[in-house]
Amino acid sequence: MALWSLKINPIIVVRRRLWHYLLFMTDQAQTGERVYKGISVSAGICQGKAFVLHKTQTHVPHYDVGEADLPHQVQRFHDALVLTRHQIQEVQFKVSQALNANDASIFDAHLLVLDDPTLIDSVTGLIYAKKINVEAAFQEFVQKYTATLSAIDDAYLRERVADMRDVTSRILNNLLGNLQHEALRDLKEPCVIIADDISPSEVAVINRKVVLGFATDIGSKTSHTAIMARSMQLPAVVGLKDASVKIKTGAHVLLDGYNGSVVLNPSDQTLFEYGRLVRQQASIEEKLRAIQALPAITLDGQKITLSANIEQTGDVEAVKEFGAEGVGLFRTEYLFLNRDSLPGEEEQYEAYRKVAAALKPAPVIIRTLDLGGDKFLSHLQIPLEMNPFLGWRAIRFCLEEKDVFRAQLRAILRASAEGNVKIMYPMISNHCELDQANGLVEQYKNELRAEKIPFDETIEIGAMIEIPSAAVTADMLAKRVKFFSLGTNDLIQYSLAVDRLNERIAHLYEPTHPAVLRLIKGTAEAAGRHGFWCGVCGEMGGDPYMTPLLLGLGVTELSMAPALLPRVKFLIRRLKMDDAKELASFALNCESGREILERSQALARRTAPSLFEDQP
Ligand code: PEP
Ligand code: MG
Repeated sequence: MALWSLKINPIIVVRRRLWHYLLFMTDQAQTGERVYKGISVSAGICQGKAFVLHKTQTHVPHYDVGEADLPHQVQRFHDALVLTRHQIQEVQFKVSQALNANDASIFDAHLLVLDDPTLIDSVTGLIYAKKINVEAAFQEFVQKYTATLSAIDDAYLRERVADMRDVTSRILNNLLGNLQHEALRDLKEPCVIIADDISPSEVAVINRKVVLGFATDIGSKTSHTAIMARSMQLPAVVGLKDASVKIKTGAHVLLDGYNGSVVLNPSDQTLFEYGRLVRQQASIEEKLRAIQALPAITLDGQKITLSANIEQTGDVEAVKEFGAEGVGLFRTEYLFLNRDSLPGEEEQYEAYRKVAAALKPAPVIIRTLDLGGDKFLSHLQIPLEMNPFLGWRAIRFCLEEKDVFRAQLRAILRASAEGNVKIMYPMISNHCELDQANGLVEQYKNELRAEKIPFDETIEIGAMIEIPSAAVTADMLAKRVKFFSLGTNDLIQYSLAVDRLNERIAHLYEPTHPAVLRLIKGTAEAAGRHGFWCGVCGEMGGDPYMTPLLLGLGVTELSMAPALLPRVKFLIRRLKMDDAKELASFALNCESGREILERSQALARRTAPSLFEDQP
């Protein structure tokens, strides 16, 4: 029963009654209603039919395929073989480093399986003969082949069966992983996705017209999957543990992105309560719209710049709609994901130019490629790493892969002729990286001058401060740039040694930890001493509970998902800097992150009670 519209904008107002209802009536036998609690990562409420996806699925789907789609199935098979080869070679390389070449040679047998013409011809033959999907054809072949080999009484062949099982399960997993991607891309009916996991690149291909929201078993607030959801204004909940096993495709679900819950088979009473919540939020939205065109100035006159974080060129509309003063962080990685080859200079130039021209004269800070961590390209031969967030990512990758960096920097420089463009490097950990990157920018500027291609000669360059070493040495870095933007998502994970993706240790991921606040303060002070601004573009920047604290610590720019901006502005326009500074000085002398959080929340609530009305 659809009582109300499915999509609403993100304003957090939660009725105490509703909250109690969710807490205490989590399993209503009489209605069949069941509530799954997780972590809210993207505000909004939606309801509809569940569409359940499993990456690590044991069930292999079997379906008929039309004549025209058969070559595509064969292509998927070949793609899975290529990916599998890459993965095995990686493992082989690691084993050869850790053990010795002899031990690594066992993987030669695995690689041979991938080249086996019987495998390739038979699976291709089955796809065409039976007109079925590649997973079904592959499974049928593997079952027959291993059964035949196992029946022969020969030790050597038995070993080959073990190799075969190992390799084929890898291929199948790759096929199923890709299938999830395809399934998301091909959805036609409105639905709420319930999955064990969804990657950031998968969220990027979601069709916003049919996917009403998504919920996953694992995940965290600062994963790029969550960030992407906020950017797309797609209600989302993560960390639901086993919801994707319990909820079946087709079931009626209600997803509450404010409180982080999914209600299976919502009762009429629940739908009624949520209907009321939706109406209430609509009225708060009205208030926020009224200040849309007004600046973010505190009651005592401190001007704060509010900018938008964007991932794709299409996000420009939201930047304007929510009244951002420019783009504080353009995550360019998404131009590189979900494709078979890298975007060249021309294509990137077109994308950056479009955003710069659309927002001119507002600034657009283009962050250079931050691949790695939880953002991978399947076609780039980036080694699989044990600790990808500590590995070969971002500026480290770009400084080695100079062709990739050159194409991007030239594209950004060229786009600077068409608007107010700035460059920002991610993951800077020392001044040498800055010197190297700045040296390359100079080199490409010279190239463009020689080619008589225009660019902004005064283009500003900034650094993301998201590694503790950078925050501690901010004074040294400050000599080499024109602004700092604190990437608090990473800064918190690296300062506290808490994996930002791991929901098991999410309670340790503490933005108000005194260590984090001291790093923020030190960075803002270093920027001040060098006469430039320091902003925050991590998720802390869009959290109104954190706004007074960040302002009190000396931050003067906040960049966030566009839809979060009106709430932060609403709060700033009611805030006194004296209160913010008092909170910051308390925080800098307090030992407990929890106490600091409570004080910050209390000040935010006192400042703008209607933003937090009735929250537990
Ligand atoms: C950050 O780390 O805070 C940040 C803004 O960058 P990303 O989330 O893309 O790593
Ligand atoms: Mg980061």
